[in-house]
Amino acid sequence: MRHAKDHQPGYTFAVVVLALDRHELIASLVGRDGMDTLVAKVSERLQGALRPGDQVAHLTGDELWVLVDRIRSPDDMIVITRRIQGSLARPFAIASEEISVTAAIGIVVNGGETVTAEEMLKNAATAMHRARAQGPSRHEFYDLAMRERARTRLRLETDLRLAVERKEFAVHFQPIVTMGSGAVDGFEALVRWQHPSRGLVAPDQFIPIAEETGLILPMSEQVLSRGCEQIRAWQGRFEAPSNHLPFSLSMNFTSAHFADTALLDTVSAALQESGLDGRCLVAEITESMLLRDVEKVLDVLNELKQMNIRVHLDDFGTGYSSLSYLHRLPADTLKIDRSFVSRLGADRETEVLVKAIVDLAHNLGKQVIAEGIETAEQARVVAHLGCELGQGYYFARPGDPKSMEALLDGSAGGNGGAEPWPRLPGPSAASAS
Ligand code: C2E
Ligand code: MG
Ligand code: MG
Repeated sequence: MRHAKDHQPGYTFAVVVLALDRHELIASLVGRDGMDTLVAKVSERLQGALRPGDQVAHLTGDELWVLVDRIRSPDDMIVITRRIQGSLARPFAIASEEISVTAAIGIVVNGGETVTAEEMLKNAATAMHRARAQGPSRHEFYDLAMRERARTRLRLETDLRLAVERKEFAVHFQPIVTMGSGAVDGFEALVRWQHPSRGLVAPDQFIPIAEETGLILPMSEQVLSRGCEQIRAWQGRFEAPSNHLPFSLSMNFTSAHFADTALLDTVSAALQESGLDGRCLVAEITESMLLRDVEKVLDVLNELKQMNIRVHLDDFGTGYSSLSYLHRLPADTLKIDRSFVSRLGADRETEVLVKAIVDLAHNLGKQVIAEGIETAEQARVVAHLGCELGQGYYFARPGDPKSMEALLDGSAGGNGGAEPWPRLPGPSAASAS
């Protein structure tokens, strides 16, 4: 998952003030002692719903406050607020009554400026009163800009839910080419959201939300089945040379896939329905997916390998995972992250680093793809350093199936190849040296 990109320096913690809705009515039902018991039970539930470092404390009467530690951005508070509200969903048994509880929630996020604890509590309480004025079970941010942000984010979430139902996702494709010959080896499927009013939305804008809400799984299923069908169709139009596999499809996986018990069924259904050979499917994973439950991830990857599906390690060099996993990982290929490739040519150290990665991969019996190749010079260096495959704007930008088809038709048999196999201008053409 790409949370590293979401880090916002300055945001460190949040204070939440929570007050029970209809507290007077509840108090008249259960009495003052009953109210105390209820607040204590609510506090317990909250503690159970939060992380160990977070603290819940009684403020006054029916009000509690929560210190939420180590948040990455204000958006985290939407997820946490939902978790708090969810923890109250079951009724509470108080003095032989079943009491249903909702709460008004006020949130203040520490934005790096020095504010005293008292001020933060006061501001969170102000936000709570604003929330309460709107009706039961509401939450509000103290900061108006944050409130706007939260609303935009919630709207996006609602829209994303609809997008899954309405199948508003488009799949774009970007060719992956053989460095030596420029022959198209396969395509990476890159999802785009065709939003009814915002137009085409890039994955960085919605993948993190899809991951947090679990919508990533139904979304990916659509991308996978669409991708498999498209690649199968192109395989039919361009018959691979005898020494070459037909086009392959690279799909980006996320952590959620490894927790999904239906994954293998979903994948084999997509292969079966499209007629795509398992050997032509590639699962792109990242090092960060190995951080959580390595054994589980390795199990799933090995099962995918049983289906002949290949595994590529995406964004290689940007993660934190230990090199010691690398030999256990059934990855066929390392994809060198474009942050390295973009510095090639300009800086000698990067060249040494890329060379080291290529040697490491080759010594482990793996291939290397360089991603984000934008210039002829980068293509030349990458090929010179021994990368077998390349991907990037230099060869082709990602495009919809129609534009990709035009590109394939236009390049079939081009670039001096003997077979009518699509070739994109490769480094041989570029360097001419
Ligand atoms: P990624 O898997 O590393 O995909 C490569 C990204 O680099 C794509 O961005 C692609 O458009 C971009 N790219 C390719 N060549 C160049 C180049 O020469 N220069 C530059 N500057 N960029 C280049 P995109 O399509 O915006 O996707 C961003 C990320 O979103 C992907 O990174 C991937 O992590 C995620 N993503 C995209 N589609 C899917 C999907 O269907 N499922 C999941 N789970 N994640 C996806
Ligand atoms: Mg990828
Ligand atoms: Mg990548």
